[in-house]
Amino acid sequence: MKDIKLAALENHDKTTIQVGSVRIGKDFVLIAGPCSVESEEQTIRIANAVKKAGANILRGGAFKPRTSPYSFQGLGLKGLKILDKAREQTGMPVVSEVLDPRDVSWMCDYIDILQIGTRNMQNFSLLKEVGKVNKPVLLKRGMYSTISEWLNCAEYILSEGNPEVILCERGIRTFETYSRNTLDLSAVPAMKELTHLPIIVDPTHATGRVSLIPPMCLAAVASGADGLIVEVHDNPDQAMSDKDQALTPETFYEMVQKILHLRDFMEKLD
Ligand code: PEP
Ligand code: MN
Repeated sequence: MKDIKLAALENHDKTTIQVGSVRIGKDFVLIAGPCSVESEEQTIRIANAVKKAGANILRGGAFKPRTSPYSFQGLGLKGLKILDKAREQTGMPVVSEVLDPRDVSWMCDYIDILQIGTRNMQNFSLLKEVGKVNKPVLLKRGMYSTISEWLNCAEYILSEGNPEVILCERGIRTFETYSRNTLDLSAVPAMKELTHLPIIVDPTHATGRVSLIPPMCLAAVASGADGLIVEVHDNPDQAMSDKDQALTPETFYEMVQKILHLRDFMEKLD
């Protein structure tokens, strides 16, 4: 692929990114947590529940990119401090979205992985900024982006000096309206033949429907993904964002059991 030099599979070893005790790209990564950090109690309660169910990294948005300016925008710094506390209490590393290039360096004091959301995948000033820091970056696929555009965005980060990029397929816009987006699972094997970077899948934002998330998580595992990122809330009806797509801790636990079985089976195929 033209101009993909640092991200290309050719002449590079497979990238492994160590975050806490998790080796992303080697160990299966299970990222879970609420869409938004809403309060300290809510975040720590959910963090404990997802950890108990088998998650190894906590997610939670402190800066929320919302369609409407009147929707909850996130707790900002207060939310990041809560995530910091959740890490301290659970031992799980945390990932949170950065929306603004001016926030990149100071956010690194509170979180372990910087997330670039779908709406900012091609925000080149933001990509350059996260390319300058010493923190892994979770780069979501733009909802209108091709594989090539997405890889070029990873190349932006790598070319600034940050080698730790994790790709995340989260669905793309198609004519379909039943699901929120269309999950392009072919992106997983495609990325495996194009790049050495790890790739994880987000069936939550891809489908937007609780009933579709567990089957798509299993399909993502079968496709060869290095991990999953899933939204979990213990009171979805009251969630301040994305309430229609939050799994309960119980459903998450049941799903993780199936994932573990599937992974055992897949290891026997190798
Ligand atoms: C999120 O993970 O909270 C999020 C907003 O995801 P996306 O950028 O994929 O919509
Ligand atoms: Mn969300």
